[in-house]
Amino acid sequence: MEFDLIEAIRARSATRREDVLLGIGDDAALLRPPPGHALAVAVDTLLEGVHFPLGTAPADIGWKALAVNLSDLAAMGATPAWALLSLSLPRADRRFVEGFLDGFMALAEPHRLALVGGDTTRGTLAVSVTVHGFVHEEQALRRSGAKPGDAIFVTGTLGDAAAGLACLDRQRDDADRLLTSAVDSRKALIERLNRPSPRVAAGQWLREVASACIDVSDGLLADLGHLCKASGVGASLDVDALPLSSALLTLFADNARDFALTGGDDYELCFTAAPEHAARIVADLARQGCGAARIGRIVAEEGVALHDADGRRVTASASGWDHFRT
Ligand code: ADP
Ligand code: MG
Repeated sequence: MEFDLIEAIRARSATRREDVLLGIGDDAALLRPPPGHALAVAVDTLLEGVHFPLGTAPADIGWKALAVNLSDLAAMGATPAWALLSLSLPRADRRFVEGFLDGFMALAEPHRLALVGGDTTRGTLAVSVTVHGFVHEEQALRRSGAKPGDAIFVTGTLGDAAAGLACLDRQRDDADRLLTSAVDSRKALIERLNRPSPRVAAGQWLREVASACIDVSDGLLADLGHLCKASGVGASLDVDALPLSSALLTLFADNARDFALTGGDDYELCFTAAPEHAARIVADLARQGCGAARIGRIVAEEGVALHDADGRRVTASASGWDHFRT
């Protein structure tokens, strides 16, 4: 049973790269990293009911399993190259695997990422992807480079994925009563949950200008907190500058800001840079399509403090999704 599945996966791993000397089919892949680069390597596991809701379409699981890993490479400023896929399946489910690969390959191909190996076992549904990318060691975007006075930015919009999850959790009758505009917004938010866009091109562009970078997987407050801790600094955030989508504002006008501060799963990049680069960053990332908003500044005093556009202190209701708190 496993052999057929692996053969199906091998047949679909379409990306060809000259640096893959040997791909799926032997005991190990043989890969040739480019001279002078460091390998950037990351792994993330997705469990049903924890990282994606029960009943998520196989293609969405495949997309997301790769997207969350590409997001880690993006946050390092690395160029993606190779992936390993570890699948644990309750049974040899060919239809699941084909659907999964539809989503996985739809994201792998435009990034010229080659699937070079993996492992297939029987067990509860779990998907683990390992990605490899390249970056010059001195250009890698670390969490630890932020300095007091740096401006803080975030790509895209925040809070959408968590709001999408809230939409799925709501009663069906609720959804049926929504107006047309709300139905479209609901769709857009759920799309953001199921099909996050890893900011790979933005991450590579940022190698030139950013002083520190992290991807927002657990919520802005939590992840910016990690960046600050690694840099030995604090942050002052303007909650009125948070980039919010029209879909989020349509459906969650009252708590859009809380979603943006604490909602997980957005896979945007939060980064810092000297303030003189701000205009260029905002203009160039807008041209790239994802956009970037300036949301605050790095300060010497530790912790993340929040204020509004008038400088008044505000507090957040919670500090991000924590796997071990719930
Ligand atoms: P081994 O016992 O040597 O680990 P496997 O039967 O697990 O061999 O794997 C055979 C080949 O198929 C290897 O090249 C492995 O990398 C690849 N492979 C197995 N499962 C997957 C998967 N889910 N995705 C991609 N390649 C896989
Ligand atoms: Mg194996």
